[in-house]
Amino acid sequence: MQIVELPIHILVDLIHSGKLDPREVFNSFCNNIFKFNHNLNAFITVDCDITHHDFNSHSQMAGIPIAIKDNIITKGMRTTCGSKMLESFVPPYDATAVSRLKKAGATIIGKTNMDEFAMGSSTEYSIFGASINPFNNECVAGGSSGGSAVAVASCMAAVALGSDTGGSVRQPAAFSGIVGFKPSYGRISRYGLVAFASSLDQIGFLTRDVLDSVLLYSIIAGPDKFDATMISEDPQPVDLNLWRDKRPKIAVLKQSFDDSVDKIIRERIEEILAKSSSKIDHISLPELEYCVPIYYIIAPAECSANLARYDGVRYGFRADDIGTIEDMYIKTRSLGFGDEVKRRIMIGTFVLSAGYSEKYFSQAQRARMYISAKFNRIFDKYDFIISPTTPTQPFKLGEKIDDPVAMYLSDFFTVPANLIGAPAISIPINLDKELPFGIHIMASPQEDASLLAYAAEIEDLISMVIK
Ligand code: GLN
Repeated sequence: MQIVELPIHILVDLIHSGKLDPREVFNSFCNNIFKFNHNLNAFITVDCDITHHDFNSHSQMAGIPIAIKDNIITKGMRTTCGSKMLESFVPPYDATAVSRLKKAGATIIGKTNMDEFAMGSSTEYSIFGASINPFNNECVAGGSSGGSAVAVASCMAAVALGSDTGGSVRQPAAFSGIVGFKPSYGRISRYGLVAFASSLDQIGFLTRDVLDSVLLYSIIAGPDKFDATMISEDPQPVDLNLWRDKRPKIAVLKQSFDDSVDKIIRERIEEILAKSSSKIDHISLPELEYCVPIYYIIAPAECSANLARYDGVRYGFRADDIGTIEDMYIKTRSLGFGDEVKRRIMIGTFVLSAGYSEKYFSQAQRARMYISAKFNRIFDKYDFIISPTTPTQPFKLGEKIDDPVAMYLSDFFTVPANLIGAPAISIPINLDKELPFGIHIMASPQEDASLLAYAAEIEDLISMVIK
């Protein structure tokens, strides 16, 4: 195996024991960026100038190169959110997730491509153009953290941070054949994560294996005085032996086997479950159908409020030739945002408007509470809920760009975890020659450590069953 293909827990060991020089590791990843990025469009900004970084071999992260989604702010490094609105925005401070990584000795190698303001499932809504699936260049890499997924999958970065509001870490991870982990709401500070829908947003990881997610989690998760919505207790350390001799109780969602799910995905999930020693029940949860509709009221409502700050006054893009202040707002926002973002802002302001907010927004909030209660009852009986990560394998570039609802449905299985604040992970289950897809495991809110331990077991099982 080449250096760039190794998971970080192995790279760190090799560097700590003096067998590898972190500069050599950095150069290997940069060489891949020079080779692949012009085709795959994973990065918006790259920092391969070795003199910008100090590599501390003895630090916890040992100088390992990490890619950061371009909606997580980085001091002195352009952070665009894939939007014209922030095309030349250079933040004056680091997000908490970034400062913790830097403190642990990681190297920020670049900022990755994404759907504008993280709204989308294919990276096609980026003003920098779509990221390309490394396994089939005619297909999307997923989104909105598509750039982060491609950077890791094509060995241009060792691991990457993404953000997940409805599936944007797990879905591109599934489409790119890597692991994608979204922790519980409140486990990772949102300080410095550009807000899309604040009650759903969470930073997550795109990694080669589960252990790498465990490592990042141990560095980044935990209370932060700059984010008042965080869980106040320290996260539990992950005990990888937790499920070694125990049989967890698993609920498999019946919708996993609907015709709308690609046959190969259904078959592979069945194959894995058949080999698992866990206690498995197939459960029916008809309310699942309502999660995407609920999400598409709450997320746009919150986004319309959060994006009000891009008005051409405080920072970012401002249109030229402006007349009155009102003209300036209108022109700046008309030119600065792309179509999907405008669609969300319009839906959001509509569902919050006088006369309609009770009918739509409040109703969606009540439905969200109902769904949470329903999931809690399932988690009273079961440790984990399993489904596919996505109903389909990666789709073709352009296939869904004019059909927003079809695009929205690629998050069918991922959105519930955000609505209820639960941790969830996608693990690849495709054979090497197949277009990637993943299995999705969700745990009760705040059971991140238990989920990661079980995910490591399932990953071993997958490698025995199908690889
Ligand atoms: N695809 C979903 C959306 O477009 C989720 C995005 C996300 O998780 N950031 O809103």
